[in-house]
Amino acid sequence: MSHDPAVAAATALVRESVPVDDFLTWTEWSLARVGFVPSNCLAIVGVCRDELMSGFDQAVAGRWGHPFQAGALAGLVFVGRTGLQAALGHVPGEDGRHRFVAFCMPHVGIDADGTVGRVQRRGMHRDSAACGALVAFRDDLSTGRTTFELDPEDVEQSLLSMRLGGMVGPGRTPSLLDLTELARRAAVEDMRRFVDLARGREPVDVAYLSGIVVHLPDGVDHVASVEARVVIDGEVIDLPH
Ligand SMILES: [Zn+2]
Repeated sequence: MSHDPAVAAATALVRESVPVDDFLTWTEWSLARVGFVPSNCLAIVGVCRDELMSGFDQAVAGRWGHPFQAGALAGLVFVGRTGLQAALGHVPGEDGRHRFVAFCMPHVGIDADGTVGRVQRRGMHRDSAACGALVAFRDDLSTGRTTFELDPEDVEQSLLSMRLGGMVGPGRTPSLLDLTELARRAAVEDMRRFVDLARGREPVDVAYLSGIVVHLPDGVDHVASVEARVVIDGEVIDLPH
């Protein structure tokens, strides 16, 4: 048993994780019970731009139909009111309710040694960073390089620094897993705020599903730290999982 707290935290995360396919099966049956089925919903996906997440996107598309893309670097959600208004224009509503299934899923690699933030990619001999944007942000925090202002040459990463920097607090450098969890919380909060801004008086019900996608050495992506909350006609329901 390792005494390295980062490895211990990674081990705990992996232990509670489930394969992406099992997670999506669970979303189908648990959301069907509250009236969300693929034919009456539009999926919205907030995941990182990293091509490692394309498998998750395709898996969501296979269950819930092609999703509206709301994710920026690290899976943060900067799509804003206008973006969500566009999504609202595409959502079914034959029974008088519009329904979104929103997935907010930051990601992290864990290699065979339990090192958090590393992943073996196809065609590369050396492993590389995942999530690269969060690793870069953490490096900036630890060296005091963060500026917390919008950089037109680096729009998404500077927005990420501003958004997560406000949650971290001055002088602190959280672990990469803790930063990933902060990214999950920020993504859900922002998605929810933009949906509420976009909806106006429209009858919109939303399932907010979030978690951390873990890239494991066996190549099968898993989901951990799941939170599932449905808002139906203003009433909040936590889905047990
Ligand atoms: Zn990433």
